[in-house]
Amino acid sequence: MPSHKISNMSKVTVVGAGAVGATCADDIAQKELCNEVILVDIKEGLSEGKALDIWQVAPINLFDTRIKGSTNDYAMTAGSDVVVITSGLPRKPGMSRDDLISINAGIVKSVTENIVKYSPDAIIIVVSNPLDVMTYQAFLSAGLPSTKVFGMAGILDTARYRAFLADALHCSPKDISAMILGGHGDTMVPLPRYTTVSGIPVTELIDKATLDAIVERTKVGGGEIVKLLGTSAWYAPGTAAAQMVEAILRDQKRILPVCAWLQGEYGLKDIYMGAPVKLGRNGIEQIIELQLNDEEKELLSVSAKAVREVMNVLDGMLASAN
Ligand code: NAD
Repeated sequence: MPSHKISNMSKVTVVGAGAVGATCADDIAQKELCNEVILVDIKEGLSEGKALDIWQVAPINLFDTRIKGSTNDYAMTAGSDVVVITSGLPRKPGMSRDDLISINAGIVKSVTENIVKYSPDAIIIVVSNPLDVMTYQAFLSAGLPSTKVFGMAGILDTARYRAFLADALHCSPKDISAMILGGHGDTMVPLPRYTTVSGIPVTELIDKATLDAIVERTKVGGGEIVKLLGTSAWYAPGTAAAQMVEAILRDQKRILPVCAWLQGEYGLKDIYMGAPVKLGRNGIEQIIELQLNDEEKELLSVSAKAVREVMNVLDGMLASAN
């Protein structure tokens, strides 16, 4: 007897209907990456309003991915294949970094617990900052394998690096391929040795001083936008998270920089940090270890130290709460 079950129905939840979450949900819907998107926020009416606005783009831009909003009702998220967590507060004047860690960790914890209650098989992508440590919090709260809990930062950071290079070289950003390792912050490690323009090593096309300046600008690329806007970026971050959703749902096996739980790779253990991974329907299907030179190894170890310090703050908070 023929089955009437639609076997490839797919559903994505985006938690946080702020700037990044709404941009991500919009991109997912417009690219028809799944059948249904649920946008969740704690602020009454925000997700419903943004979802309605995005849905009203459908007749103009011609897509049929359904999008619905939910004020903290996680029952609506049930059976999600992928969940993107963007909920969290930005740092406000007078707030210490530790305050921010504590508040956002609390938000990420409760959101993750709600998500896995209704979608025990979901793959979770964390976007909330401080990214590496919020991904760690989601991993602790989800009880899922680390292949299914990871963070978005590297796609954004490499996109910034590639955009700056495209400007400097007066060429299409499409042709620039690059890799960045490490934590999502000023210690990130852009890798000029692994940067090419249509296969040509970037070092053959650009002088060292210009390349060094682009690397430094990339490291503070988020701060550059905060200075201009008074708040952090959302178009590129939201789109970057949607690219990860696409790689997973379409089982593309893309090689992308992702904040992953390292278990010995790069000589690092029990730490979430950016590294190249293969992303497919099972989440992280492989972590790729590059052959680094001594200078790159040193930069990565500085970055790992910075991430570890923030992880220790969170571990300390969790220990004192128990
Ligand atoms: P935003 O303030 O516009 O949106 C955050 C939303 O989260 C708000 O609408 C808020 O109501 C919601 N929220 C708060 N607590 C919640 C909860 N318990 N449940 C559900 N929703 C809740 O902020 P934004 O600009 O969209 O940024 C979101 C997060 O992403 C921030 O932490 C930001 O630092 C981070 N970010 C990360 C990257 C990255 O590369 N990983 C890039 C940009 C921004």
